Amino acid sequence: MADLNDKITTIKGIGEKKAQAFGRLGVFSLYDLISFFPRRYEDRSVFKPIALCEDGETCCVSAIIADDPRLVYVRRGMELVKLRIADESGVADVTYFNQPYMKNNLRRGEEFIFFGKMDVKGARRSMANPVAERQDSPNRVTGCIMPVYPLTNGLNQKSVVQSVKIGLDECGELVPEIVPDDILKRNKLCKASFAYRSIHFPADFESLELARRRFIFEELFTLSCALGCMRKDRSKQPGIKISDADVSPFISSLPFTPTGAQLRAINDAVADMSSGNAMSRLVQGDVGSGKTLVAAALFYVMNKNGYSCAFMAPTEILAKQHVKTMTELLSPFGIKVDKLTGSMTAKEKSAVKQALKSGETGVLVGTHALFSEGVDYSRLGLVITDEQHRFGVAQRASLISKGECPHVLVMSATPIPRTLALIIYGDLDVSIIDEMPPGRQKVSTFAVDETYRSRLNGFIKKQADEGHQVYIVCPKVEDDEESDGRLKSAEEHCRAVAASIPGIRAACVHGRLKAKEKEAIMQSFSKGEIDVLVSTTVIEVGVDVPNATLMVIENAERFGLSQLHQLRGRVGRGSAKSWCILVSDNKSDEVKARLDIMCKTNDGFKISEEDLRLRGPGDFFGSRQHGLPEMHIADLGADTAALKHAQGEAKSLLASDPDLSLPEHRNLKNRISAIFSDSGDSFN
Ligand code: ADP
Ligand code: MG
Repeated sequence: MADLNDKITTIKGIGEKKAQAFGRLGVFSLYDLISFFPRRYEDRSVFKPIALCEDGETCCVSAIIADDPRLVYVRRGMELVKLRIADESGVADVTYFNQPYMKNNLRRGEEFIFFGKMDVKGARRSMANPVAERQDSPNRVTGCIMPVYPLTNGLNQKSVVQSVKIGLDECGELVPEIVPDDILKRNKLCKASFAYRSIHFPADFESLELARRRFIFEELFTLSCALGCMRKDRSKQPGIKISDADVSPFISSLPFTPTGAQLRAINDAVADMSSGNAMSRLVQGDVGSGKTLVAAALFYVMNKNGYSCAFMAPTEILAKQHVKTMTELLSPFGIKVDKLTGSMTAKEKSAVKQALKSGETGVLVGTHALFSEGVDYSRLGLVITDEQHRFGVAQRASLISKGECPHVLVMSATPIPRTLALIIYGDLDVSIIDEMPPGRQKVSTFAVDETYRSRLNGFIKKQADEGHQVYIVCPKVEDDEESDGRLKSAEEHCRAVAASIPGIRAACVHGRLKAKEKEAIMQSFSKGEIDVLVSTTVIEVGVDVPNATLMVIENAERFGLSQLHQLRGRVGRGSAKSWCILVSDNKSDEVKARLDIMCKTNDGFKISEEDLRLRGPGDFFGSRQHGLPEMHIADLGADTAALKHAQGEAKSLLASDPDLSLPEHRNLKNRISAIFSDSGDSFN
């Protein structure tokens, strides 16, 4: 009696060599084998009379071999087997290239099924290298939907198909049912054994769809349960409990009224920090939605309760800007804001470390230098990371370890579809800032080409004359960089702009400058001493100069949608009308589609959905950077409806059986432990 955990070498035809090849595909046990899903399918189910096959049509014909197959030598290395086949409707010529044995497989007068592509030239019909088999052959490969598997050296389709077939026969009925019965019924999902058979060898396309739907659900459901269990574990962790939760003095000190969404995010976090458990929360809001203010309010509260805080930014430019903002907002309350970045001198650093250790520092803002050795916090109570997607989970963890279970908040503008945020940041509670500060106008966006150059220069000049400022983003730093001269470089383009627009004050900033130089330029730009800042994408994230009203992106075809959206988010931050001009001479459909979306919408979530659609989820999520287990079949971007159902079911299941201790949930529990052990520490 076979067992799901048996090695695949127990299957007839799989020896050491083949087992090694399977191993490279992650297939070791029989369970792995039947869970090794086809990459696609070939529809071999359609039969046609020969005369009705259209030119180029791929289908099956059931035909009699009308003559004796002939072996023809064309030249050395080229032997043909030729024969003629016939059915009631007509005849066709069949040719096999370099398969001399076919001469003996096929005999005049016998009936075969031929599957392949029919060529029609005038009255002549022919097929080259069709699959041929007898109607009564035991393992039919025609007249059905055939799976096509991903392969590796040492494996071919035929042997994988055979192995999977045997695997299914041996233990297709033994697969554990992971999804509880009532959930299957409620969601009209098929049973596991049917699904495993049909995902490989579907009787028809309906069965295939049923199987797919079930596996998609199963995958999303187990993932949701896994994340649900994890969240529960985390929220059990005791944390610092603050006693003074009053934010109102801070709120009333602001020059504007926070939006409802900002207040909700602040209240969510304050409630977490008053609960006695450690906070793990994500604040997600589109660029410009005012996340920094949420951070400031929480720093205020923690300081009021006697705790210090850390604020981590992904770039020095952003860290520098946050220091300024935080100082403005918090110093009226006697809170000392300090900065720690890699580019500071040893002396500067040691002064900051001293202040930090002594408890003088209320908020330490910086880059990843914040969690380097020798940085000792006094009563660290709250860690906030800005633009979280730029940090690895490990970096976050090492900062958290600086304190005794401090509260953690991550802020992100990565516009990911809403349901997905819950999955990706599944270990975090989520507050979404879905409201922009009042008075914001849509950033009008246009795509133009080189012919527009002189008008563009005129427009830049006009903005500057009206006292506003302009960003120009280029895809590279210097001209000699790549051989590709069609790409604008920041340095060269900066000179060109200065030369062609009289009286303009232009400066250039990019990652190769020293931190001090970058800082000085950014500072004079935010003071309004520079009209046009030509840069690389170093200004992509977070930079906030409300007086800037025009964003020009050169070689816009070089940037992805999400990046374009981030860049555009640098303007439209004040009350003045803002523009974004995308310059590109690239006329490909794909680029046009991307720029079109930018022109049509300012909604980061819509843009991310489009981004996902255009790029596909694999690209979008990069290489497992979110620490999620790989999805085998579900498409996290596209299957959002399924995801919602799966999450809903997971939630109510965990509500009724939080530890999955009921016997009917044992299979699910085992599967979840397997997920956790596979993804190693990326979950922790
Ligand atoms: P992001 O969410 O992209 O980090 P910021 O926190 O940088 O956005 O805020 C963008 C701009 O909006 C800043 O200039 C900030 O001062 C301003 N701002 C934030 N909240 C409000 C509000 N409620 N009303 C008016 N302006 C606001
Ligand atoms: Mg920000």
